[in-house]
Amino acid sequence: MYEIIDGKQLASTLRLKIAADANRFKEEYGRQIGLAVVLVGEDPASQIYVRNKIRACEEVGINSFSYYLPKDSTQNALEELIKELAADDAVDGILVQLPLPGHLDADGALKLIPVEKDVDGFSENNIGRLAMNRDCLVACTPNAVMKMLESKNVQTRGKKAVVVGRSNIVGRPMALLLLNADATVTVCHSKTADLKKECLEADILVAAIGKAKFITADMVKQGATVIDVGMDRDENGKLCGDVDFENVKEKCSYITPVPGGVGPTTITMLMYNTCVAAYRRKNL
Ligand code: NAP
Repeated sequence: MYEIIDGKQLASTLRLKIAADANRFKEEYGRQIGLAVVLVGEDPASQIYVRNKIRACEEVGINSFSYYLPKDSTQNALEELIKELAADDAVDGILVQLPLPGHLDADGALKLIPVEKDVDGFSENNIGRLAMNRDCLVACTPNAVMKMLESKNVQTRGKKAVVVGRSNIVGRPMALLLLNADATVTVCHSKTADLKKECLEADILVAAIGKAKFITADMVKQGATVIDVGMDRDENGKLCGDVDFENVKEKCSYITPVPGGVGPTTITMLMYNTCVAAYRRKNL
């Protein structure tokens, strides 16, 4: 019998704790924790993500500073803004919403975010620290996956974990986190020779592919924990994940749904990282 890991429920439990930490910060240091969100252009999906992030900030008592730059902004204008935010003591975390318009250099911009304010955890410095199993700000989605596993006491030590996907924002940091948590990790991608064989060995299977219902029941070991990071559209345009949930669920010990799984927990981890960043800056 499978159990669903409910991301909404986990998010609301975590948010209570984050709100308490944010409140304690305000009492101790006389100001709210601050998150600066930078959006360049008018990409509709990015606008929704930014709106959700700002709303989540308000919910937990984190002050948000929003910066909307026109889509034809220059690299220089973006970089000057990031430098200002980097120097601003009221800003504990800086998030530049990706993707940036094509003419801008995202890597160049992200490099200017100080490592201690990089609440998305995308900078080379934070990823490098993660790779070395050192203290760092961890990218929100993989961090959310670890919280989901922890919430059900799913053991990672000595377990076989398979991550499908190797992007810098999900697959790679996910694999590093699982490795740091003592799992034996296999990372699969579009050139993997026998994906089904690899997936069938997984005690913990994380799908971060971006293809609707790609992971089918014949790819999942009986009793596995399946975490679905995907946010895709099915043939009717309905939101779904990378996992064929209806057919896969019966084989699982635990499984995450889409929607209501990794997504809500991911935004919560942004709030969490901003809190962590604020306290760490005070203790530098
Ligand atoms: P991405 O950058 O496009 O990476 C997709 C990965 O999947 C790549 O490594 C690719 O391999 C691999 N892949 C593609 N086709 C494959 C195949 N047939 N077999 C095996 N591997 C295959 O995507 P992403 O940014 O990591 O996002 C992945 C999914 O997660 C998307 O649905 C996205 O919307 C979702 N997402 C959700 C959240 C959340 O908060 N829930 C956050 C971020 C992303 P190659 O490297 O060989 O090309």
